[in-house]
Amino acid sequence: MPERLIIIGSGPSGLTAAIYASRANINPLLFEGFQEGGIPGGQLMITNEVENFPGFPNGIMGPLLMQNMREQAVKLGCRMIMEDIQSVNLDSYPFAVTSASGDTYTADALIIATGAVAKRLPLDSEKRLWGKGISACAVCDGALPVFRNKELAVIGGGDTAVEEALHLTKFASKVYLIHRRDELRASKIMQTRVLTHPKVHILWNKTVEEFVGESSLSSLRLRDTATGEFTDLPVAGAFEAIGHSPNTNFLNGQLNLDSQGYIITEQDSTVTSADGVFAAGDVQDTKYRQAVTAAASGCQAAIDAERWLLERLGI
Ligand code: NDP
Repeated sequence: MPERLIIIGSGPSGLTAAIYASRANINPLLFEGFQEGGIPGGQLMITNEVENFPGFPNGIMGPLLMQNMREQAVKLGCRMIMEDIQSVNLDSYPFAVTSASGDTYTADALIIATGAVAKRLPLDSEKRLWGKGISACAVCDGALPVFRNKELAVIGGGDTAVEEALHLTKFASKVYLIHRRDELRASKIMQTRVLTHPKVHILWNKTVEEFVGESSLSSLRLRDTATGEFTDLPVAGAFEAIGHSPNTNFLNGQLNLDSQGYIITEQDSTVTSADGVFAAGDVQDTKYRQAVTAAASGCQAAIDAERWLLERLGI
């Protein structure tokens, strides 16, 4: 017997879809992921304090918020498997999904909620020194002894970059925020915090052309985007915060994607190009990308799937 609904992904969107689908007696099966596309629980697992998720006036730690969502979904009856889905077959029906262990599961409807992962700078020197002073997660790695009381850099100008820079001020002697333009993309409140922080020094109009170091990072070769001038910036650590890529490779072109690889959904719904397949959260959101909007679209996907199952299959 096929599953009625398989949900792929365990961030706020996948878990909210699981909560709603469980309460609708759909008895969903959710694949939490394992090592592809970030850790189970999604990006909030590598976030410190979340101040803007409604219902927590004193903020809540990202991992605790995710643990609570998971607990709520399990309590309502959702079954979970901690494995990556490696491929799907949307031409067959019921749909087939195959996990990393090679097992294939079938389902009447699917919700794709696989989120997005941090982008990395496409430089050979970055690959060579990755993990040797270069990271894409200040919250995970910033407290390491090698970074204590050292001068560190964060690359990017969005909310993530600003959040990471502020986080690193707890450990670093100085934090350089390196941005390719002369204006931050981050929200105003975050901009104010970083612009007024005594330990943060913003380097405007700069890109990293090379990560320099033998066994570990020792400096960054920067290029001024306005003048073309090159400078060297000695730092013990660099944290990339240059945005995200959606986790859609496993779909192998079976759903319509935009030019950046995000799943295209119909306006005001989670309906994708394949009948019976719904998408929720960051994997289909290039605009808002917040925990609360991801959760909200997970709710929409569960409702869309429930109605679709009822209308098409009468179940
Ligand atoms: P964003 O896409 O918002 O920002 C990416 C930043 O990296 C931009 O400043 C961009 O520059 C820069 N960048 C991109 N590519 C390169 C490159 N090749 N070289 C140099 N710089 C580059 O991503 P974020 O991860 O910051 O945020 C994603 C979403 O998550 C946003 O909607 C954000 O609001 C949200 N978020 C919210 C938080 C909160 O509310 N607490 C915390 C973290 C994220 P440019 O500006 O020139 O394009």
